[in-house]
Amino acid sequence: GETIGILGGGQLGRMLAMAAAQLGYRCHVFAPEKDSIAAEVCAAFTRADWTDSAAMAAFAADCAVVTYEFENVPVAPLKALGAAVLLPNARALEVAQDRLNEKRFVTDLGGAVAPFKAVDTPEDLAEALVEIGSPGILKTRRDGYDGKGQWRIMTDHDADGIALPGQPLVYEGFVHFSAEFSVILCRGHDGRVVFWDSAENVHEHGILARSSLPASAAVLEQVPAARELAAKVAHALGYVGVLTLEFFATADGPVVNEMAPRVHNSGHWTIEGALTSQFENHIRAICGLPLGDTRLAARTVEMRNIIGDAAEDWDKLLSDPANHLHLYGKAAARPGRKMGHVTRLGLDPA
Ligand code: ATP
Ligand code: MG
Ligand code: MG
Repeated sequence: GETIGILGGGQLGRMLAMAAAQLGYRCHVFAPEKDSIAAEVCAAFTRADWTDSAAMAAFAADCAVVTYEFENVPVAPLKALGAAVLLPNARALEVAQDRLNEKRFVTDLGGAVAPFKAVDTPEDLAEALVEIGSPGILKTRRDGYDGKGQWRIMTDHDADGIALPGQPLVYEGFVHFSAEFSVILCRGHDGRVVFWDSAENVHEHGILARSSLPASAAVLEQVPAARELAAKVAHALGYVGVLTLEFFATADGPVVNEMAPRVHNSGHWTIEGALTSQFENHIRAICGLPLGDTRLAARTVEMRNIIGDAAEDWDKLLSDPANHLHLYGKAAARPGRKMGHVTRLGLDPA
């Protein structure tokens, strides 16, 4: 088979590579970190800085197609990919890696987002608090994940004397939601879009804790409008591959939280819980193959993340045939670090 290049070396790359291997492809990871849990399951690993254009060019020469497993890959060095095809394209990366671009892009397409304002100086923040008010969340425009790079501002006083980090920020008003959910779609080479069922997501300390299906009625009634918007985003970007939009279900309909131009933690349940996983369909899409069936493979599905060094009774967990365990092979458990996940399938009639 041909070689697929993966930019980024974390668990999403690892699960993409495992799906690619099933289809007979070999994968080559490009990542800056020394120990890549994606590279461990791949045929080749280029460990280099994003800006090392010689390393990037040599990597690209080995690959028929290049994809990415996280959105913070800097765009400029990707010029060194030369003629290698990048899917999803660089435009998708550019939009999704900057919260301000992302919000403007979504609103231009008619989507709702939290009220927001760009914040570069303490004066901007003061103005944002007058315009939008508290509570709200100050977020770095770039590089945030798992709730990192965010400051919750519960009252105007919280903003007094706050030490702004030396990078562009965005302040957004706090959204009062009844639930959170995600729309995960895959757009093929031919522009055809398939959706997985939307999971209801519960976050703890800014980190995804659980995704469950079926979602509550409050979510299900908002899924059609959310899907319509997500498909618009995919078409507008000429997107190929898996795209995720995170939503708040509110009294005024679905409000976009953020988008991820990639496979998503809230879609890990699709490995056992859907007829074709998000990882397999992403590989199929970027390789120009027909997309697989996204329907549910169980009556109920619950995915929970294993975070940090939380104590688990592994024997008990694995003794229950409903459970499917995934461990990412990370060497050290740090607080807030995603170490694995468990997907629980409910197959029996209610
Ligand atoms: P991810 O790992 O999903 O990329 P992230 O670091 O980009 O996370 P966000 O998705 O922006 O973080 O926020 C994490 C969680 O914090 C959200 O899922 C939601 O629970 C809460 N949150 C973020 N922004 C808002 C908001 N404006 N109003 C209410 N809750 C919010
Ligand atoms: Mg994010
Ligand atoms: Mg998020």
